Amino acid sequence: MARTGVLIEMADGGKIKETNYGVLTAARGKTGNNEVYALIMDGSADALATDLAPYGVQNIVAVTAAGDLQNSPDLQAAALAAAAKEYGFNSLLGLSSASGRDIFARIAASLDEPMASDCISVDVDERTAVKSHFSGKTFATIQLECTMMIATIRPNAIEPVKSSESATSAQVLSFTAQVSDPGKVKRVEVKKGGSGKIELTEAPIIITGGRAIKAAENYKMLEECAAILGAAVGASRAAVDAGYAPHSMQVGQTGKTVSPKVYIACGVSGAVQHFAGMKTSKIIVGINMDKDAPIFSKCDYGIVGDIFEVIPALTKALK
Ligand SMILES: Cc1cc2nc3c(=O)[nH]c(=O)nc-3n(C[C@H](O)[C@H](O)[C@H](O)COP(=O)(O)OP(=O)(O)OC[C@H]3O[C@@H](n4cnc5c(N)ncnc54)[C@H](O)[C@@H]3O)c2cc1C
Repeated sequence: MARTGVLIEMADGGKIKETNYGVLTAARGKTGNNEVYALIMDGSADALATDLAPYGVQNIVAVTAAGDLQNSPDLQAAALAAAAKEYGFNSLLGLSSASGRDIFARIAASLDEPMASDCISVDVDERTAVKSHFSGKTFATIQLECTMMIATIRPNAIEPVKSSESATSAQVLSFTAQVSDPGKVKRVEVKKGGSGKIELTEAPIIITGGRAIKAAENYKMLEECAAILGAAVGASRAAVDAGYAPHSMQVGQTGKTVSPKVYIACGVSGAVQHFAGMKTSKIIVGINMDKDAPIFSKCDYGIVGDIFEVIPALTKALK
């Protein structure tokens, strides 16, 4: 039976990031029968046993190592590579997050394996991955010639599905990696973006304001609606360049790549560079005053109207 390791990422407050569940779904393979090991590095393995088991996780490996594991990506990568060898994984998957991109590239290099990053889907049995290319204009299926398939998956790209075979709890294993070289990079500080807000790349729903928002304070209108929807608020580059929103909110080719269930573009024209960052959203809604705006040729639902009328009306209806 094939065996897949999945690095689990935690959100603020010691909760598991919801987007891990899509990765665990892919880890089970086409038949859904692959053995899945969840790898945890922050000491919370015991607390997660009942959260992870429904997604087919049989074993949770609490990975530790001497030294400052939490703040050294080299040490983390070395410890995870050692765990992958120890448990004989056929594949190793994780999220294409800031830390996932950092750590997985190091793991692949240390194991001399190829890596597929920011995948839309993966097939661990066939060792193939689907990736978006040329700013989302094409999707390529790539085949990895490897001993261990290493891939990171775009958050929300894969619909999480619980396993029909799962137990109620997973077994917790302890693994202390015999690694000690902290490498050359040490994390010294983490500055949180808007604390308490939903991270854009993790959000199941995103409501984005474009240049039409006209002023920074007008994002409050979107935030009010987002709070009811459980959504994160994004911005177009034009809005960021105009100083209405910070770059951390920018979606697109030179901003963040997102893949929510619903993406609501408010006063966004629909430029290719914006689409490059949100094209894989499951449902796209465009709200624009101009009935000929390009967004309407690319969205699932469109509202021709003024965002300063439509959004307050939507918020009121949702309330
Ligand atoms: C190399 C490169 C990289 C880029 N990267 C990015 C990127 O990462 N992200 C990104 O977003 N862009 C990016 N861009 C910029 C991109 O080309 C567009 O200029 C930008 O996306 C336009 O932003 P916008 O849709 O908010 O503004 P506009 O194109 O000005 O559109 C505003 C829209 O709002 C509508 N509107 C106005 N008032 C209202 C109202 N009251 N109610 C409803 N609708 C209204 C208008 O009809 C219009 O369609 C990049 C460009 C380049 C060259």
